[in-house]
Amino acid sequence: MNFEHITLGQRVLFGTGKAAEHVAKEVVRHEARRIMCISSEFERSLADKALASIDVALWHSDVVQHVPVETAEKARQAAADAGIDLIVCVGGGSTTGLAKAVALTSGIPIIAVPTTYAGSEATNVWGLTEGATKTTGIDDKVLPAAVIYDAELTIGLPVALSVSSGLNALAHCVDSLWAPKADPINQALGAEGVRALADGLPRIARNPHDMKGRETALYGAYLAAVAFASAGSGLHHKICHVLGGTFNLPHAETHATVLPYVLAFNGPAAPDAAARLSAALRSGMADVSASEGRAGTAEDAVSLLNELRSRLDAPVALRDYGFTEADIPEAVRRVIAAAPPSNPAAVTEESMTELMRAALAGEVPAVRALATA
Ligand code: NAD
Repeated sequence: MNFEHITLGQRVLFGTGKAAEHVAKEVVRHEARRIMCISSEFERSLADKALASIDVALWHSDVVQHVPVETAEKARQAAADAGIDLIVCVGGGSTTGLAKAVALTSGIPIIAVPTTYAGSEATNVWGLTEGATKTTGIDDKVLPAAVIYDAELTIGLPVALSVSSGLNALAHCVDSLWAPKADPINQALGAEGVRALADGLPRIARNPHDMKGRETALYGAYLAAVAFASAGSGLHHKICHVLGGTFNLPHAETHATVLPYVLAFNGPAAPDAAARLSAALRSGMADVSASEGRAGTAEDAVSLLNELRSRLDAPVALRDYGFTEADIPEAVRRVIAAAPPSNPAAVTEESMTELMRAALAGEVPAVRALATA
């Protein structure tokens, strides 16, 4: 083995029903006096619970998905005007993203209390959108100093959102297996993330109040984000980044829809990743049927992912989110420009057009249909 791996430094406090206690502990640890809470209006009741034991100097609720630069500027100005020395963000990836935008220019530390499975809290990646273009970058200033996970705060996340958000996390894991900086450590984290999500998400789909399911999914989402932050963006993330930034498709649903097509495309060219993924999915879905002699193949991995998606009643077609046939050439052009040169399968105009067409229509993703592209 020969590799270089960086582990990002942050404290993780995991405890069901303990968000308020853990937030208070972190405020003391940071000796913070002027706290800004970032949380959308919809997430405010969750923020009230998580910040119940501390004084808040500024509540900021102007949160917009994909962090438009104007939204970031307003939050930065509000933080500066109020003399803020610590940000506590309570909410999904959009809320965490806004906190990161403030930290990027001010250096103010963040305590993140995530309430979806997006995973932004465990990465040093920031994102800002200007016009139709979303820009992302890496800066350790935006990595939250601490992450506080409390499964109780996720109980109200509707099943459909839990599923798309959870599959977004699963996509972090899968893409980590072949991303540009994939290494044995982030691949191990990604594989365990897949197992946990394949176990937790179906429990939530059956019963949104299943606390074991909620805890397992949050744990999986954290591993997914750590793996993703370390391995970097693979083809899947590049595709979704284009679809979200240029065509304004919803983040989690886009990830959930596109993942099986990328797996069907890359899997045959990445047999070790496919084998690892099959084993993890099989271990998470303990009751899944035997593989009939193709265990560990790309075909097996795709069929297990399809099985998980069908148990979750996952999103199936990009056309349901406003993507059209006419958008494909522009999307393909942008994906080809952004695709990692190290991607296991050749990213060509023909192969990407075929992948986009299949994802647009929601065709059943099949290895044979895409692997030969
Ligand atoms: P989101 O933050 O937009 O939240 C989706 C919806 O769920 C919102 O309406 C929100 O109010 C609601 N919600 C959140 N928590 C809830 C709860 N517990 N109960 C009920 N409703 C709840 O969506 P998301 O998928 O969490 O995040 C997507 C954003 O995060 C995108 O902009 C994406 O680019 C970014 N992201 C960034 C990184 C990174 O590393 N920088 C990683 C993953 C995602």
